[in-house]
Amino acid sequence: MAGKPRSGCEALRVVARCRPMSRREEAAGYERVLELDVKLGQVSIRNPRAAPGELPKTFTFDAVYDASSKQADLYDETVRPLIDSVLQGFNGTVFAYGQTGTGKTYTMQGAWAEPEKRGIIPSAFEHIFTHISRSQNQQYLVRASYLEIYQEEIRDLLAKDQSKKLELKENPETGVYIKDLSSFVTKNVKEIEHVMNLGSQTRSVGSTNMNEHSSRSHAIFLITIECSETGPDGEEHIRVGKLNLVDLAGSERQSKMGAHGERPKEASKINLSLSALGNVISALVDGRSTHIPYRDSKLTRLLQDSLGGNAKTIMVATLGPASHSYDESLSTLRFANRAKNIKNKPRVNEDPKDTLLREFQEEIVRLKAQLERRGMLGKKRRRSSRRKKAMDGEGAVENEGEDDNEDGLEKNMENYLKEQKERLEEEKAAIQDDHSLVSEEKQKLLQEKEKMIEDLRKEQEATELLAIKYKAMESKLLIGGRTIVDHTNEQQKMLELKRQEINEQKRREREMQQEMLLRDEETMELRETYTSLQQEVEIKTKKLKKLYAKLQAVKAEIQDQHDEYIRVRQDLEEAQNEQTRELKLKYLIIENFIPPEEKNKIMNRLYFDGDEDQWKFQPLVPTGGNSSQMKRRPTSAVGYKRPISQYARVAMARRAHPRFR
Ligand code: ADP
Ligand code: MG
Repeated sequence: MAGKPRSGCEALRVVARCRPMSRREEAAGYERVLELDVKLGQVSIRNPRAAPGELPKTFTFDAVYDASSKQADLYDETVRPLIDSVLQGFNGTVFAYGQTGTGKTYTMQGAWAEPEKRGIIPSAFEHIFTHISRSQNQQYLVRASYLEIYQEEIRDLLAKDQSKKLELKENPETGVYIKDLSSFVTKNVKEIEHVMNLGSQTRSVGSTNMNEHSSRSHAIFLITIECSETGPDGEEHIRVGKLNLVDLAGSERQSKMGAHGERPKEASKINLSLSALGNVISALVDGRSTHIPYRDSKLTRLLQDSLGGNAKTIMVATLGPASHSYDESLSTLRFANRAKNIKNKPRVNEDPKDTLLREFQEEIVRLKAQLERRGMLGKKRRRSSRRKKAMDGEGAVENEGEDDNEDGLEKNMENYLKEQKERLEEEKAAIQDDHSLVSEEKQKLLQEKEKMIEDLRKEQEATELLAIKYKAMESKLLIGGRTIVDHTNEQQKMLELKRQEINEQKRREREMQQEMLLRDEETMELRETYTSLQQEVEIKTKKLKKLYAKLQAVKAEIQDQHDEYIRVRQDLEEAQNEQTRELKLKYLIIENFIPPEEKNKIMNRLYFDGDEDQWKFQPLVPTGGNSSQMKRRPTSAVGYKRPISQYARVAMARRAHPRFR
């Protein structure tokens, strides 16, 4: 839109939301450890095991939502502007991050049945299609996909065949995408809701324990909005906005490996994507990292643009208020606090290659041309027949049926075919009545006419099919301004605008207060005059106390971070020990039970597929030199042609695997 910047640098928006105490927590008598200051956008967390005098820790976010907040508050104030941007052609992402049971799914999806409890996803559906219906001179195409990442495997929740694992691919122009991911073009809220429900059903079907499953998997609902509009240059331009709505796996520290009966390999994959997300965020904000480990997990690869790239991103950190979740809440707050410092570079995606909208438009033009060729759409034919009628003296209304839209199309087709058929029947009758023809000749001519009538019928069928296809395609391109311009809507629009203004105001107030607070602390020393020595002592003592408290808080923070670091290190060491033990076992088996020639044969066929993050076998090449098999040999793999030593192999794996870079 004119006047609005089409690109720029902007920080990730981070908001925190605290759910109400659950009945169980209340019954168990847990204390409340979280305090939210909605006006200031601050969360304070108090350690239930705090030493006397220990102050609560305070975190500041773009906004905070307390237990009394409504779904609509979060949507209107925080999410709505993002969806508006997506409708303008920006990429957008909303993450829900937090411990299991703190309201991620409630925030993203909510309860469908109750309008005021609908979460971000259903509200976005309404928002998007309302926007389209009110648009003018724009054509939209909306499609949706739904996927899940579980144990580092991508599952298409909308595919018929659930056994298929999807692969991530990279395109130099458009970035990372999922090969063969299904997507459905949707024309209205009902259709996209249907897609959503379909995916949710699939998601719950495959799992014996839905709670556990959803706490360990990431669900991503993806909406792609393409919009075509004639620009000031008179050319048509297409903008594409992609919206990722992400319900992340529970952020709680996974219990030790294998606790849930998985073998170590599975267990280590459970939260790989989530820890990779943390590493990516740390690398992005520490300012010294030159390498951002996006490639370490499926999630971070897929959402690379959302983290430091071409997207506007919101993170909703969800929290529980009770004392028993203190550790997890604090870790969520720290995570969110770090994410605040990520800078993205969003821009409008204008005229990218390979838009579905363009494809649809071209197909529609092609179908239209075909129909025209069949004489079904041609104005020319109608004009000429009209002219003929006029010459016949019957007269014609000049602007009658000037349009060649679908209705005209149907009428046209009917008339044309009727005319043709009548003509053929007449000719047939004429032949029958023609006594100058020999009967044999007559028969032949009649057969010819019969065949022509049959052909005509076939053509009619084909044309009907074509027309159906044409109509179906055209109906998928959404054009606003047709259905809604009534009074209620105008009022509604005004109301929404007002609400938006209020939200904007609130946001600015909060920002100002946050800034004032900051400045207060910075300028404590400046420009102060004292009337007496006594007063100076008093004021300075007060300040000293304040600064001392601050120093203690920072010290405590350092201690916390140190403890956390030690915990993580211990975990890693444990994992490493586990893997070394595993490796020793494998070596033992190989050295003692596999003949060396066999081992070498196998080793020579192995190569590392960096895309799939797996060792693979080269297909056997028969000594006859079968060329078709030669072609199937992987081409992207690293040096598969020559035998590889064990050390070289490890080196290759390192090169192929960015974690080792
Ligand atoms: P998660 O997806 O993070 O595991 P859920 O969204 O399933 O958590 O929420 C856990 C429970 O808390 C659900 O029963 C949900 O209805 C309730 N809940 C979460 N957030 C809120 C909220 N803001 N207001 C009211 N109830 C909530
Ligand atoms: Mg959930």
